[in-house]
Amino acid sequence: MRELIDRLERCGRLDKEEWTALIGAAKDAEYLFEKARAAARRHYGTDVYKRGLIEFTNFCKNNCLYCGIRRDGRDTTRYRLSEEEILDCCKRGYALGFRTFVLQGGEDPYYTDDRLVKLIAEMKAAYPDCALTLSIGEKSKESYQKFFDAGADRYLLRHETANPDHYRKLHPKEMSFENRKKCLFWLKEIGYQTGCGFMVGSPGQTAECLAEDMLFITELQPDMVGIGPFLPHHNTPFAKEAKGSVALTLYMIGLLRLLKPNLLIPATTALGTADANGREKGVLAGANVVMPNLSPVRVRRKYELYDNKICTGDEAAECCAALERSMERIGFHLAKGRGDPAEDQRKEENYV
Ligand code: SAH
Repeated sequence: MRELIDRLERCGRLDKEEWTALIGAAKDAEYLFEKARAAARRHYGTDVYKRGLIEFTNFCKNNCLYCGIRRDGRDTTRYRLSEEEILDCCKRGYALGFRTFVLQGGEDPYYTDDRLVKLIAEMKAAYPDCALTLSIGEKSKESYQKFFDAGADRYLLRHETANPDHYRKLHPKEMSFENRKKCLFWLKEIGYQTGCGFMVGSPGQTAECLAEDMLFITELQPDMVGIGPFLPHHNTPFAKEAKGSVALTLYMIGLLRLLKPNLLIPATTALGTADANGREKGVLAGANVVMPNLSPVRVRRKYELYDNKICTGDEAAECCAALERSMERIGFHLAKGRGDPAEDQRKEENYV
């Protein structure tokens, strides 16, 4: 597999058969991670960026089969943070050195475009030196444009899987990969720093599906890609499904780093939940972002996308201090600043 890894490093693309072979075997992981770390270092040094996650609502009109806050989740206690509470999260986050805030939530009809625009404008007025990321699902192009005009800088919308049949197995029939894809291209067109991503080991996923994810990412050329292992939630149709593999998630992180060396790749909470050292291993496989939780402790447990999610009991400050120490231990450090994407330093003539 080393030749394929070398070629990926050189030119940033492979065809579907090559991706499938590489991912199906998942061999030479240490060789891959070394190259991935070198690529990350060339673009970002030993910096790891931190993003303050604010989980502001767990109401959701969607019914994704894997997700613990899906509409039909009966014993989910619903909550929504007020504008004041959200701004208070930012205040505490700012004091802890965060310069990116991520507003994430279910698709909650209470948060109309007008309410969101007002919230975005207030957050940007209070923290003009911070980047604001939205992660609130599928909207119309007009809505995305309004949020951008109000000051939002970035948007995270995982595509979940780029195989349309697999997409249908994970989602109710009113959702489609086609619409997800359309949203992602709109976001890029409008000018957001755009992030997609997928779960590793979701029910029905094959090496070929993951190959299609890599081809989709090659086509979209996003700024960020978030991936983590699928983890079952007890109150979903996928409660009894096996969880995704940490080793394969790490392998995919390494491949993503070589596919597009200036990507912002988080070592996700799901990875940290599946393995006690998951986030550190993620960074050592090529990730360069962490996303500690800034939500008030009283709501943490309620934003339960999957079982046993970590950091639901600690204050943000405690989580950050621990993360800071563990990053230093592996030779990285949590950087100050917004952490915008670096220029791709790979030479054009290599893209063949
Ligand atoms: N409503 C927003 C935010 C979704 S939650 C949106 O649609 O974009 C953020 C991500 O968590 C999802 O995109 C999904 O990839 C991940 N996620 C949800 N349930 C999960 C599970 N059971 N295991 C692992 N990841 C999960």
